[in-house]
Amino acid sequence: MLKFRGKGVYSAVAVGKIAVFKRQELKVKREKVEDINGELDRLQAAKAEAIAQLNEIYKKALEEVGETNAAIFEIHTMMVEDEDYNEAIADMIVTQKVNAEYAVAIMGDNFAEMFAAMDDAYMQARSADVRDISNRIISCLMRSTSGEDNTNEPVIICADDLAPSETVSLDKDKVLAFVTAHGSTNSHTAILARNMNIPAIIGVGEEFLSSVKDGDVAVVDGFTGEFILNPDEKTVQDAEAKHAQEQEKKELLQKLKGKDSITTDGKKINVFANIGSVDNIGAVLLNDAEGIGLFRSEFLFLERNDYPTEDEQFGIYKRVLESMAGKKVIIRTLDIGADKQCDYFNMPKEENPALGVRAIRLCLSNPQVFRVQLRALLRASAFGKLGIMFPMIANVWELERILQICEEIKSELKDENIEYSELTELGIMIETPAAALISHRLAPMVDFFSIGTNDLIQYTLACDRQNPNVEPFCDTHHEAVLQLIDMTVQNAHHFGRWVGICGELAADTSLTQQFISMGVDELSVSPTFVLKVRAAVRKSHAKEIQE
Ligand code: PEP
Ligand code: MG
Repeated sequence: MLKFRGKGVYSAVAVGKIAVFKRQELKVKREKVEDINGELDRLQAAKAEAIAQLNEIYKKALEEVGETNAAIFEIHTMMVEDEDYNEAIADMIVTQKVNAEYAVAIMGDNFAEMFAAMDDAYMQARSADVRDISNRIISCLMRSTSGEDNTNEPVIICADDLAPSETVSLDKDKVLAFVTAHGSTNSHTAILARNMNIPAIIGVGEEFLSSVKDGDVAVVDGFTGEFILNPDEKTVQDAEAKHAQEQEKKELLQKLKGKDSITTDGKKINVFANIGSVDNIGAVLLNDAEGIGLFRSEFLFLERNDYPTEDEQFGIYKRVLESMAGKKVIIRTLDIGADKQCDYFNMPKEENPALGVRAIRLCLSNPQVFRVQLRALLRASAFGKLGIMFPMIANVWELERILQICEEIKSELKDENIEYSELTELGIMIETPAAALISHRLAPMVDFFSIGTNDLIQYTLACDRQNPNVEPFCDTHHEAVLQLIDMTVQNAHHFGRWVGICGELAADTSLTQQFISMGVDELSVSPTFVLKVRAAVRKSHAKEIQE
């Protein structure tokens, strides 16, 4: 029995046989060619075939993982058609009189290395995409297909890394789990795995690959990130029991669909969902969330190469509101900066981006971008029950400025005879200790607070949320954090405002009773945690129980 550890990307357990992912080795040789035009024609034909394949993969991805996640294959198509990339390949064929396979391999490598050397983590991750499309074109030139698993029994796929197109091409019914030696949690592969609900561990390390072989049995624990090769009987039994327990819990929770999130003494708590895209609404409805407590609007900006227009944003916000059919939807304005960088904002590089011009600071520094978003949001407010919330508030003057801009936008819309809802709630995130400490000043100015515990913890305990090495110093139940939450709730209630929690801590059911005792009115969590939190609410009580 051998144990390895990586990062769990999707929390579930699998036990089964291994299939080592065999990628067809594309042995490219340099060959001299005389017929340059013929070679360029071959290249054209291979590119057309690659694009046709990518269209098919896009369609499959659209069905399995939704529009946002499938978009990577549209990007792949764009990369195949990229002018610089194509010119570089064609130039090499013409000037060096070499075969197309060789030119694609060399230029593909050059472009991939150029991406890998960039500072931006998102751009670095594109390096794998360039390699992926170059291999696809080479395969088409060689009339071969990339490696596919042909087994019938569902297996645990073990690979060095998986390209996004390889991940989505896996037949979901034949894959129990996948484990890779490399890969980052930011990669599209990891995101796709999460959305395909496949237990997965990434970054297990090089050594694991030399230890696994086809047919070996393994346990994949996506909760702990543990990969156990050739487990003993007891380990298999434990894993199977854990898997069965999880299934049972999931089935039990299904029974809570349609039920109220109400404490034993009758207090209604709103159990809402956090999402980052319209594609996640299916999961919100499937898990019976009572509303959307946090729509991270920045993903709309992150997944494109230029600012979305007012009309584009309006269309998306309206779709979210209409899909939720009258249930409350809280959309957070842009929270770009820190770990979420967006190239076209052309922000100067910062020493400490988490303490830099992020979120509301960026919006107040770029009021035009902010105004476009607010116009789109207010226009959409006519189509449902909207709340708008502002992230990273630390000063009263920021909120004064925001409210002033909101008033200006409303009067603009009135002048233009454009409809919006006067009932739109305006709220702020409490995610800096400063905001919690002055919450008595902020509460009278807004309709609600939503506590962002992810950042509140990072800023209170001075622990970078991106740095795994400070995790031992980052006690999410730290009394300083809990006191700030309590203070925020009491100050909000003093002014008759409602308070939610939308950070990850909202899903920590060991704290549900404590949050409810403090008076928290809403808990907003990932869609898959909604029923778990509803179950915890239904076991809690709002009033103190007299001994
Ligand atoms: C938070 O900080 O808790 C939060 C919900 O916002 P984000 O995780 O998007 O920073
Ligand atoms: Mg935050």
